[in-house]
Amino acid sequence: MDLNTIGEVTIARTRTDLTNPQPGDAVIAGGTWLLSERQDHLRRLVDITTLGWEPVTITDAGIDLAATCTIETISKLGGELPAEWTAAPLFHQCATALLASFKIWKTATIGGNVSLSFPAGAMISLVTALDGTVTVWRPDGTDYTAHIVDFVTGAATNVLAPGDVLRSIALPAGALRGRTAFRKIALSPLGRSGAVIIGRLDRPDDGGGFALAVTGSTTKPLQLRFPGLPTTADLTDALGGVPDDLWHYDAHGAPDWRKAVSSVLAHEILAELS
Ligand SMILES: Cc1cc2nc3c(=O)[nH]c(=O)nc-3n(C[C@H](O)[C@H](O)[C@H](O)COP(=O)(O)OP(=O)(O)OC[C@H]3O[C@@H](n4cnc5c(N)ncnc54)[C@H](O)[C@@H]3O)c2cc1C
Repeated sequence: MDLNTIGEVTIARTRTDLTNPQPGDAVIAGGTWLLSERQDHLRRLVDITTLGWEPVTITDAGIDLAATCTIETISKLGGELPAEWTAAPLFHQCATALLASFKIWKTATIGGNVSLSFPAGAMISLVTALDGTVTVWRPDGTDYTAHIVDFVTGAATNVLAPGDVLRSIALPAGALRGRTAFRKIALSPLGRSGAVIIGRLDRPDDGGGFALAVTGSTTKPLQLRFPGLPTTADLTDALGGVPDDLWHYDAHGAPDWRKAVSSVLAHEILAELS
C-alpha cells in the first residue's frame, strides 16, 4: 500500500547514510511488512538493500548471513553447503514455515523477519536452532552482538534502539554439523505457525550436546540445552519449567494448546534423534 506520510526516501550507499537517524525514520529492507499496513508515524524510509552486502559468506567457522539476504536465498542455501553440515535441511524447512507466497519469499529478508520479532518469525526459528548471533550497527558507528534468544525480548520486541540496524547473523559451524529434527504445527494446513520446534544433536567432537529450540509457541525464542540427549522425563521437566506467561496467545493458538503441542513435538524430535 502507499505510505502517504513518507516525505523522503534515502537510498543508503555507505554506513554514513545510516547515521543521524530522526524520529519518524524506518529502515526498509524487503518492505513486505512495512508496505503491508499503515505506518502513519513514519516520515522517512532508509533503504538498506542498496548497501551491497554479500548475502551469504561461508567460511570454515560457519555462515554469515547479511540482514538483506532474502528468504528465497536462504531456502536454497541448504543445497549448497558442505556435506558435513548435516543441519542443511533446516534452511528450506524454516523458509517454508513462513506463511508467505513466493512473491514474499523473493523480497522478504532475514533481517526484516528477525527485526519484526514476531513469535511466528520463521527465520528466528532457524537462527535459534543453529545458535545464531546477531550483529547490530549503532548509528554512532559502533557495533554490538547478541545471541538470538537475548536479541528477541518478547512478541514483536527486541533490543534494537532507534537508529540501530541489524547488519548480519552468524551461524557457527559446530551447530551446522549437528543432526536436526524439525516440526511445525498450525491451526490450519497453510496457517501461520502455532509452534515451530527444532532439535539439534551436536557431534561428540562438538561437545555432543542437545539443544531444543522452542519458537512460534512462545512470546520469545527459547533454547533448552542438555549435555547430551535428555531422557523423556528430563525433557518433560525442562518444558514444564517454561513460565506460563511465555506461552503466546493470539488468533493462531491459545497458550494451553501451544504448550501441549510443543511438548508432543519435542518428544517426537527426541525420538527421531535418539
Ligand atoms: C503474506 C505475508 C505473510 C507473512 N508471513 C509471516 C510469517 O509467517 N511470519 C512472520 O514472522 N512474518 C510474516 N510476514 C511479515 C514479513 O513479511 C516477514 O517477517 C518478512 O521477513 C519481513 O522482511 P522484510 O525484509 O520484508 O522487512 P520490511 O517490511 O522491510 O521491514 C520489517 C520491519 O523491520 C525493520 N527492519 C527491516 N530490516 C531491518 C534491519 N536490517 N535492521 C533493523 N530494522 C530492520 C523495518 O524498519 C520494519 O519495521 C508476512 C508478511 C506477508 C505480507
